[in-house]
Amino acid sequence: MLTDIIHLKKRKILAQIYKLHDDFLQKFNIACKKYCSHCCTRNVIITTLEADEIVDSLISTKQEHLLEKLKNEIARVRFIPKTTTNMLAVLCANGKDIPEEESDVSWGSCPFLIDKKCPVYEKRPFGCRCFVSTSDCSKKGYAEINPFVITVNNLFLQFIEHVDSQGYSGNFTDIILYAEAKRNKFPKDSAVPEMFRNKLVKNHPITFLPIPPEDKVRIEPVLQALQNIRV
Ligand code: SF4
Ligand code: SF4
Repeated sequence: MLTDIIHLKKRKILAQIYKLHDDFLQKFNIACKKYCSHCCTRNVIITTLEADEIVDSLISTKQEHLLEKLKNEIARVRFIPKTTTNMLAVLCANGKDIPEEESDVSWGSCPFLIDKKCPVYEKRPFGCRCFVSTSDCSKKGYAEINPFVITVNNLFLQFIEHVDSQGYSGNFTDIILYAEAKRNKFPKDSAVPEMFRNKLVKNHPITFLPIPPEDKVRIEPVLQALQNIRV
């Protein structure tokens, strides 16, 4: 019961974090729009907290067939992260090597994408929300991302992981299926089932914010707003 209340609170915090980021992006001339899907790859990383939101949305909108679609594509190659954003920050702070990771856009589009539409657009994870370009990728062939937006995006990723520090990060496919399995088949606190081992990375709280010196003053209001989120 208490864990349910805490989880609900975390999901309300997540909604506020998304809103804060939407508001932040208003200041930039962003080319991204609904149904623009060139950046919708199968390599998106999400947290379990975000996945819970998406799985609930799929069920409430009667789109469970999308979960079957994910299961049918489970054998396909996709980016499997070895670290999380907060782990990377700590490795950088300590001058440690970053593990090599392989990710390739040619591995294909997001398994949820249908006719260039995202069926969970309103609930899409931050990994999708933060990929924004100041020019249309379909015309340029690549995204143009403001360096300050990249710094702020990283800060948001760190906060989302911090809020979900009891959970996991991983590839969209794995984490969504894990969230569904957890919802249906095993208690919240039980061990991770075998099929998800080596696919999920444990989340961590924030211990270090790697903000470039040139962004330290400019990012302060965003940092304050994130720290002031209350539910
Ligand atoms: S990042 Fe590029 S492909 Fe993705 S929504 Fe924005 S403009 Fe479209
Ligand atoms: S979840 Fe939606 S926005 Fe994100 S990659 Fe998939 S189709 Fe695109």
